[in-house]
Amino acid sequence: MRISVIGCGYLGAVHAACMAELGHDVVGIDVDEHRVAELSAGRAPFFEPGLPDVLSRALATGRLRFTTDMAAAAEATVHFVAVGTPQTKGSFNADLTYVDAAVQGLLPYLGEGDLVVGKSTVPVGTAARLAGVVEGAGAGATLAWNPEFLREGFAVRDTVAPDRFVYGVPQGDAGERATAVLDEVYATALATGTPRIVTDYATAELVKVSANAFLATKISFINAMAEIAEATGADVTQLADAIGHDARIGRRFLNAGLGFGGGCLPKDIRAFRARADELGLADTLSFLGEVDAINLRRRERVVTLTRELVGDLEGATIGVLGLAFKPDSDDVRDSPALDVVKKLVEAGANVTAYDPEANETATRSLPSLVTAGSAADAVRGADAVLVLTEWREFRDLVPAEVKALVSRAVVVDGRNCLDADAWRAEGFVLRGLGRP
Ligand code: NAD
Repeated sequence: MRISVIGCGYLGAVHAACMAELGHDVVGIDVDEHRVAELSAGRAPFFEPGLPDVLSRALATGRLRFTTDMAAAAEATVHFVAVGTPQTKGSFNADLTYVDAAVQGLLPYLGEGDLVVGKSTVPVGTAARLAGVVEGAGAGATLAWNPEFLREGFAVRDTVAPDRFVYGVPQGDAGERATAVLDEVYATALATGTPRIVTDYATAELVKVSANAFLATKISFINAMAEIAEATGADVTQLADAIGHDARIGRRFLNAGLGFGGGCLPKDIRAFRARADELGLADTLSFLGEVDAINLRRRERVVTLTRELVGDLEGATIGVLGLAFKPDSDDVRDSPALDVVKKLVEAGANVTAYDPEANETATRSLPSLVTAGSAADAVRGADAVLVLTEWREFRDLVPAEVKALVSRAVVVDGRNCLDADAWRAEGFVLRGLGRP
């Protein structure tokens, strides 16, 4: 099929490359010239495992190209909209400026029978409104909403072989045609039995935000238990193991720690609440405010814990390991680690941070940040070492080697990812979250 992908960020670049890898002819369109130049040269503009390989293979076939020229969409019949929907400054609402601009920009290039497919995460009601815009243009095109569930760090795998597809389509013949087109786009994954749910626009939009609300709630639930554990001397990791054996609960996403961040969960739960307010259902989703608050309190807790261990933070030397919001990503959007660094610096600490992939993105977001080129350089002379993103490199650190570098043998394990016994055996004072 001939496909255009509007917006080539964490979602769109991966989607474009993977669709070409699956045999489709794809043009990726983005307003960011630098991003388009990088992608065209086969370089991933952000860190995502496996993406550089897929990109170079797909570019070599001639089935993939990138451009800033929206007119290139005229070659395609299926148009994925994958632009950002960040939190609006000063409110919890999703900023739909980019989605609206992308759809408007696409209208002159739509032809009879074309399908516009929204992938961005949007407030419920957006698709119905945009369907009016697309149909109103009179070109004979239809809109579908096909939310994306990929996880950064596993984006290639999740795009090629997702857990499920959700198609939000209009009723009647147009919906059947849209379903048939999407089935052709995703034929490879569907052939292996990937479930697909065909539904209306509102349900499709809500599937995405409710999935994220559920995941955020699960994480904040265990972090609330961590707060209780801290007050009572219990161990939240053993608690999670024990309740996780109940198949109705499950162990995944029950890791207490510094909490969630990134370009999706925080802004999505806030936008969901804001949308519920608009619908007159503020009470229904008010619990998401608590989910958010629990999550943000964990960041403060790491700072408090560090203060307890080193005394005054003013002038203390802190080595921070991890800046990305999660391992295997360089994404620092709403990163809990970066937030902790900011709070430590505000308290007067001298922070040197290292992340295997996110030093650059973090420095762009916080230009005063002092980064090191290695974990060893970050912890040298430190009064405390803080592990804030659970990269394998940090889990594999050898306590004796770290001890030879630091000024004081103090570790705060913000992700409960270290072998506490091994570190303590080496003489470290180690504190995790929700653990005695
Ligand atoms: P991003 O900021 O990485 O990428 C957005 C891209 O869109 C940028 O490259 C930007 O230059 C481009 N863009 C903006 N306006 C444009 C326009 N008018 N025309 C063409 N390009 C334009 O964002 P992202 O993380 O890829 O997220 C995109 C959407 O996907 C969001 O709604 C997000 O919630 C959703 N989503 C993201 C993920 C994820 O893991 N990142 C997962 C699922 C869903």
